[in-house]
Amino acid sequence: MELKNLEEKYFFHTYKRLPLEIEKGEGMYLVSKGGERYLDMFGGLAVNALGYGNKRVTDAIKKQTDKYIHLSNYFLQKPQIELGEMLVQDTGYKRIFFTNSGTESVEGAIKIARKWGEENNKNKIISFTNSFHGRTFGALSLMDKASYKVGFGPFLDNFEIVEYNNIDAIRKTAGTNTAAVILEFIQGEGGIQEASADFAYEIQTLQKKYGFLLIADEIQSGVGRTGRFFGFQHFSLTPDIVVIAKPLGGGLPLGAILGGEKVENVLQPGMHGTTFGGNPVACAAGIAVLQEIKDKNLIENSETVGKFFKTGLTELQNKYPDKIKDVRGKGMMLGMELTKSGDPAVASMRERGILINCTNQNVLRFLPPLIAGKEDIDKCLSELDSVIDAI
Ligand code: PLP
Repeated sequence: MELKNLEEKYFFHTYKRLPLEIEKGEGMYLVSKGGERYLDMFGGLAVNALGYGNKRVTDAIKKQTDKYIHLSNYFLQKPQIELGEMLVQDTGYKRIFFTNSGTESVEGAIKIARKWGEENNKNKIISFTNSFHGRTFGALSLMDKASYKVGFGPFLDNFEIVEYNNIDAIRKTAGTNTAAVILEFIQGEGGIQEASADFAYEIQTLQKKYGFLLIADEIQSGVGRTGRFFGFQHFSLTPDIVVIAKPLGGGLPLGAILGGEKVENVLQPGMHGTTFGGNPVACAAGIAVLQEIKDKNLIENSETVGKFFKTGLTELQNKYPDKIKDVRGKGMMLGMELTKSGDPAVASMRERGILINCTNQNVLRFLPPLIAGKEDIDKCLSELDSVIDAI
């Protein structure tokens, strides 16, 4: 039986799968079973920052699997400690906790915020409309969209969801009882919506006034994607907690919570933990990812090639103003909002050998590997021009 039929027969129907069977990946390209090559412009939804088949990552994985694939967190594990040290030193945070996924990083951050809040007499957590923080209950409690939540309640108490980018609303809601404010400085699943500078400044002002914890969800935007190591670094504020995941493990499941001075002693032995989080193979891959990003100047590449890409998308917007409503984003995290559904454009691009994604019904989302060069972008833009023209 075809894979497609087997999937339909045996799996919960949670994913709209693409009609493609991938045989292998090479750099910026995926190769199908039939031998067709596809330029991948959404890179495993921001996971494949180094593209496919990066030798440093695959070598690190092979080397570590020969030593040990798993030890429990009762043991000190060199790859985990080394990656932890790198991340803490590179980012200036004080503490790290490794997880297996984005949503798990968010859950851990909520726990830290609640515990810290309990010690400081603050019990409310504020999040924003149109956000995406994951699929577990804490994460869902932070989100407002019915499509993710209907039928799954009740959710956690003491969460307040405020309109994104609405300065008055956050000013009215934040107060002395606010334990934490969590946000994506660029909303990914929400259609590449950027926090305005004024909104970020207001959050920073309120953080100083009320002393709440600011939590940055950098799961999609972090580790170089926006042309900075973290997306929040486009603003002049300092979150107390940062959560990351997606690209960190080079394709293996790995996430992390980074915490600053205010929260460095919140968690004590036994309060939080995980069986697989900080897996040595994933951490060995993570070390290779960070080294590769540094050695190949991929954050700079993300910024310069990302700017080139955004300029090209904006030119298309000027050319097709009735079909393209907006172009948004930073670095290699870009969105093009169409006036109609994005699905036909995604399918036409695929027929032309380019993989892009659509989120929020009508936002074409581009999350290419950070290794993308101008020639890849040119190829994508030229096909996009024809596709938009035809729709
Ligand atoms: N937070 C953000 C901003 C995300 O983009 C995602 C996933 O898309 C998550 C959290 C959840 O991550 P995961 O799917 O690894 O649980």
